[in-house]
Amino acid sequence: MTEIFKGSFTQQEPIPEEGIEAALAVMRHGRLHRYNTVAGEVAETALLEQEFAASVGAKYCLAVASGGYAMATALRAVGVKPGDKVLSNAFTLAPVPGAIAAVGAEAIFVGVTQALTIDLEDLAAKASNARVLLLSHMRGHICDMDALMAICDAAGITVIEDCAHTMGAAWRDVPSGRFGVAGCYSCQTYKHVNSGEGGLLVTDDAELAARAIILSGSYMMYEKHLAGPPVETFAKIRYETPNISGRMDNLRAALLRPQVRDLATQCARWNERYHALETGLRGTAGLTVIERPPEETIVGSSIQILLMGWTADDVTEVLRRCADRGVELKWFGAQEPVGFTSRYDSWRYVDAPKMPQSDAVLAGIVDMRVPLTFSLEDCALIARIIRQEVSKVYQAGV
Ligand SMILES: *Cc1c(COP(=O)(O)O)cnc(C)c1O
Repeated sequence: MTEIFKGSFTQQEPIPEEGIEAALAVMRHGRLHRYNTVAGEVAETALLEQEFAASVGAKYCLAVASGGYAMATALRAVGVKPGDKVLSNAFTLAPVPGAIAAVGAEAIFVGVTQALTIDLEDLAAKASNARVLLLSHMRGHICDMDALMAICDAAGITVIEDCAHTMGAAWRDVPSGRFGVAGCYSCQTYKHVNSGEGGLLVTDDAELAARAIILSGSYMMYEKHLAGPPVETFAKIRYETPNISGRMDNLRAALLRPQVRDLATQCARWNERYHALETGLRGTAGLTVIERPPEETIVGSSIQILLMGWTADDVTEVLRRCADRGVELKWFGAQEPVGFTSRYDSWRYVDAPKMPQSDAVLAGIVDMRVPLTFSLEDCALIARIIRQEVSKVYQAGV
């Protein structure tokens, strides 16, 4: 009997009841704008910032409209100007080069290794070309952060971390987002907390935080922030910094607060599913499982496998066969961008030289989302389906 998977790869869990109740309360009182508070009231958004800052051990946190907005704001706040060069990953998703383009800067892409992390040799070789790195922990893979920071510190490069896929993850027990000068997170539906849209920016740098707060559209209401820097920090910054509105509202913050509190539990549930998939896939001929280093605390909200050296036709055949059995896989080797999946040479507004070694890795990356609505049995079934179809195509091709 041919087993078929019937679940949905895009169905998230509902918002916790506590978040729904809090959101209803916000709607009932009508003060959705974060600075619209009555005497003695503290806005949901300010509380979210305080709680998220505490959860990652950051001094300051700013909630904004999206992860992409958080990254562009961090770039502006560290002084990136139009025409500046910004290093970033060749293997990432469109909002990352988009944030660089949003500030008028030019991306220089750094290659990807078979561990699916940034190629540190390539980074070292390109380090003298820029003073900022927007580092994307793409699909949750964290590179050797000690080595990366050593390269960047030696070259005087400011690091901003894109933690859209690593909220809750860590390297040597230091939360992702706490190595660079700023960490940026997304609260969009497909990430680790879900308010539809939303973003968070954390930093220990008071001036960066003050600029980010003014940039986000605080007018002169920055004193209402609970996770903002001391008011003196704003003395000059408030006159020099443009207001580029991208605030979060209290409704989204109300949905997010219980999710931030539950994050560790949710991450453990993602990892159970990830490990069930990994166990089921390991040892399949022709397929490489990505080994995760012991220093990395992962959040397995997606899983990647490598079909290294496969022809495009064979990979496409595996995807087709798996799709027929209900398993939706994404491929980073396709010539044309599809759905959420694109790659450095799809972003033609960037002048990006070809990277043959990275192209060989990208050509083999097969990617799958792991929503928490999957059971562990679902994960075992999905792994069996992928294993069977990869084996059939691999054996036919060998
Ligand atoms: C989702 C995502 C972001 C941020 O996206 P928003 O939709 O703007 O919140 C940033 N980087 C990566 C790699 C992403 O997948």
